[in-house]
Amino acid sequence: MDRAVPFLDLKAQQARIAADLRRRIDAVLAHCQFILGPEVQELEQKLAEFCGAAHCVSVSSGTDALQIALMAEGIGRGDAVFLPAFTYTATAEVPLVLGAVPVFVDVDPDTFQIDPAHLAARVAQVRAAGQLRPRAVIGVDLFGQPADWPAIAALAAREGLFTLDDCAQSFGAALHGARLGRAADATAISFFPSKPLGGYGDGGALLTESAERAALYRSLRTHGEGTTRYDVLRTGMNGRLDTLQAAVLLSKLTVFEAELAARERIAAAYDAALSGAVQIPVRVPDSTSAWAVYAILLPDSAARDRLQAQLKAAGVPSAIYYPRPLHHQPAYAAAHDGTALPVSENLASRIMALPIHPDLTDADVARVCAAVRGNS
Ligand SMILES: *Cc1c(COP(=O)(O)O)cnc(C)c1O
Repeated sequence: MDRAVPFLDLKAQQARIAADLRRRIDAVLAHCQFILGPEVQELEQKLAEFCGAAHCVSVSSGTDALQIALMAEGIGRGDAVFLPAFTYTATAEVPLVLGAVPVFVDVDPDTFQIDPAHLAARVAQVRAAGQLRPRAVIGVDLFGQPADWPAIAALAAREGLFTLDDCAQSFGAALHGARLGRAADATAISFFPSKPLGGYGDGGALLTESAERAALYRSLRTHGEGTTRYDVLRTGMNGRLDTLQAAVLLSKLTVFEAELAARERIAAAYDAALSGAVQIPVRVPDSTSAWAVYAILLPDSAARDRLQAQLKAAGVPSAIYYPRPLHHQPAYAAAHDGTALPVSENLASRIMALPIHPDLTDADVARVCAAVRGNS
């Protein structure tokens, strides 16, 4: 049989950018400014330009980006932070680390994004219970597609909530013609290697229109420092992006737009070949996706098990994001108020992700499609 189809192919990507990458890394090795070297500022400028944001502050990971954004608002004990139950664990972890309570919200059954109507109901429920102060909503742009930011922002404005865009999976996506990065009060992105714009290690960034917030983020990522290093104004953290990672990301940024276009072409090929055989992704209206994940739905978990085995036998990898909604995770069950979140629970039982990355060949795509359709 041919080689297995790669779920992700960072070696092929590296070969495409090898010369530029080497030049960028050698420049860092020559100047040895490994912390906050010139590449860090250059990257921040380019990321801000890429999405039209006023300010970009790079940090040590997507998780730290979320944490710094909530720390800057003073969110902690007694505060409620609303977030979808169907997302990666980091979204819920951060409020708990700060002593706040994650309030889980269900998602839309078609787009898998946080459901604005259920968000409104959950905010009302928390207000009526009178135990917690509603402070913030973290909207996640899941799998590369944008959340319904106009609806989230309108509700947040009425309720006085801080809006944080967990854009860890979706940098490069656009909604109503505008790239994500300005849809919320702050936007957090991740450079984990498997994200659409991934580094060679951990990394992340915050985007915001507010100069005050950007200054706070810079202070918080360096131990809460003031204008001089030994001026400690607030409790912060060690949360900077390494200069070497910034150099790698600058090199990756040169091919990022072409990679987004390649992902879109592959998604369109999957759509055309698979509609009818399985439930293909429903696109958020008037948006473009960064296609971090191409998720299909099967009728039930038994059908999913069968298809996964069929793909495996054909040398086609698959993955499940996410096999369990967060309110059912042991770490978060105690924080959950018991509200049923039926859409998240149902999706977890029958969702499945197919390989999607810019280095999939036409033959790989054909092979994935044949295996899904059961004629490989
Ligand atoms: C990956 C991810 C994060 C965390 O990013 P890291 O850089 O790995 O810390 C947060 N939220 C979501 C939705 C993610 O997919």
